[in-house]
Amino acid sequence: MIKDNVLEIKRRIASACARAKRSSEEVTIVVVSKTRSIEEIQEVIAAGITDIGENRVQEAVSKYNSLQPQAKACVYSLQLIKWHMVGHLQTNKVKEAVKIFDLIQSVDSLNLASEINKEAGKINKTQDILLEVKTSPEESKFGLKPGEAVEVIKEIAQLKNVNIRGLMTIAPVVGNPEKARPYFRQLKELRDTIAGLQPQAKACAYSLSFESLELLSMGMSDDFEVAIEEGANMVRLGRVIFEGWKAE
Ligand SMILES: *Cc1c(COP(=O)(O)O)cnc(C)c1O
Repeated sequence: MIKDNVLEIKRRIASACARAKRSSEEVTIVVVSKTRSIEEIQEVIAAGITDIGENRVQEAVSKYNSLQPQAKACVYSLQLIKWHMVGHLQTNKVKEAVKIFDLIQSVDSLNLASEINKEAGKINKTQDILLEVKTSPEESKFGLKPGEAVEVIKEIAQLKNVNIRGLMTIAPVVGNPEKARPYFRQLKELRDTIAGLQPQAKACAYSLSFESLELLSMGMSDDFEVAIEEGANMVRLGRVIFEGWKAE
């Protein structure tokens, strides 16, 4: 049952947070519901999850639209649900994406950010985004190279209708979650480096228009506990939510 899986995941998150001497309140669970049915998403929402992630705009729009009227008829309201885009976003889908997503986690170029800025501006929205960073150059197709992230962030930070909330990475699939640890550590270090530029920026002519880059979205079903130990405050979970640990 999804409800039991959610409880077990919360228990594991609490242990990982205790090991890292952090509060589990800090960690947001984003349930990645790609390919899953509306009924399954309803179960997830009933289990108390408030953040839903999708990796394709079309699928997300259709799920969003079919959940909306139901939400109105039920006690809960979809206003309380936050929608996350976690997959690669093509510029021709941006117009649709800015209408429904609260957080676009997969921004990996100035070009994409500019398009988001343009379309968000048209609907008077400031779009929250994360920058996707490629921490493992061999394995991931998308994401900024860590070495180019700082320069790109400086550019994106000038855009009025986007708000950079933090960084996201997809660690390579490795059998042992310990092997993913260096990738998570690298993302946290990069975040701390960039956040440290803020006072410098203020002293210079330009300003970096982000608050604190507080969000670190890293960790999936196989490695979320290690990611939390390394500082993740947003984990993206699919399989363990819908299927649990039955393979063990
Ligand atoms: C599918 C997906 C997830 C969830 O993966 P699981 O291994 O099923 O937990 C997380 N992040 C992204 C970007 C995804 O596409």
